[in-house]
Amino acid sequence: MTERIVLGTANPGKVVELRRILQGVDAELVPAAELDRPVPEPEEHGATYEENAVAKARAYAAASGFAAVADDSGLEVDALGGAPGVRSRRYFGDGVPAAERNRMLLALLDGVAERAARFVAVIALARPDGTVETFDGECRGEIATAPSGAGGFGYDPVFVVGGDGRTMAELDDDEKDRLSHRGLAAAKLRARLTAEPR
Ligand code: IMP
Repeated sequence: MTERIVLGTANPGKVVELRRILQGVDAELVPAAELDRPVPEPEEHGATYEENAVAKARAYAAASGFAAVADDSGLEVDALGGAPGVRSRRYFGDGVPAAERNRMLLALLDGVAERAARFVAVIALARPDGTVETFDGECRGEIATAPSGAGGFGYDPVFVVGGDGRTMAELDDDEKDRLSHRGLAAAKLRARLTAEPR
């Protein structure tokens, strides 16, 4: 029987990417917001991406009664000691729009030559019986001096993908999925779901 898997995120950018990368997997993928009884996004209290991803996936699986995947991800900038890191969504204030956050990040790095950074993602797959598996991915690059590109979401317009010169927001979907932290983590999840059907 085709398994139902809840996409445990309230972030429309993540739903689009997870749906795209998991296309063709023998499962019905249902965004949490489209469940008959929608499950609100659990709060993040963990100190690591893994803790947050596991807690979110477990909460969605327990509330829905279906398997659930959830990711926790963030941007780590070397010159900022790894910030915004696990607090990437709230680092510049709750509810601050992405364009504004990007402006604030560029201002923090004004005049800074060392701009190396990485995106990190951990995706957790939780079953209603409480079992969990995790899959990780990282993408190295550097922070641009100005935003560029209209694709993607969040910090994409200010993240130059390693060795490329283009920002993540300038990549087409296939390229982003091949190179990005979430794409790499989701490819591992995809392999897991394809290799060992339950
Ligand atoms: P969380 O995983 O929901 O805690 O959110 C992490 C935050 O990191 C997001 O709100 C984005 O701002 C940022 N982020 C995570 N992944 C990406 C990405 O692929 N592109 C751009 N920004 C991202």
